[in-house]
Amino acid sequence: MTDYAWYRSRHICPRCRQKDAAKGKVYCLDCLDKEAVATMRYKSTHDTRAQNRVYCRDRYQQAREQGICVRCFQRQARSGKATCQICFNKIREKQAIYHRLKRAERMNND
Ligand SMILES: [Zn+2]
Ligand SMILES: [Zn+2]
Repeated sequence: MTDYAWYRSRHICPRCRQKDAAKGKVYCLDCLDKEAVATMRYKSTHDTRAQNRVYCRDRYQQAREQGICVRCFQRQARSGKATCQICFNKIREKQAIYHRLKRAERMNND
């Protein structure tokens, strides 16, 4: 007999293995509560994350189709590109700073 079946046959909660099982249930009330909260938490985080992903993708695709910048979603994108001139400049600026930092790091290491 498995532990689970052993506890079950004695109406003891197989989760905490201490309390009596709730009437008509396998687990005790405390464990049922904890299980419900954990399931709810799991569901809520996972659902919103999935929804967010879909939302982001749709927004990106819509912007691309309409020729709108996928970064600010406000200005017209440059022809054939995903971003507008202003966002492109900002991205380039950031990249330049990043590369400068990396270069400085490398020089310090040498
Ligand atoms: Zn329990
Ligand atoms: Zn933009």
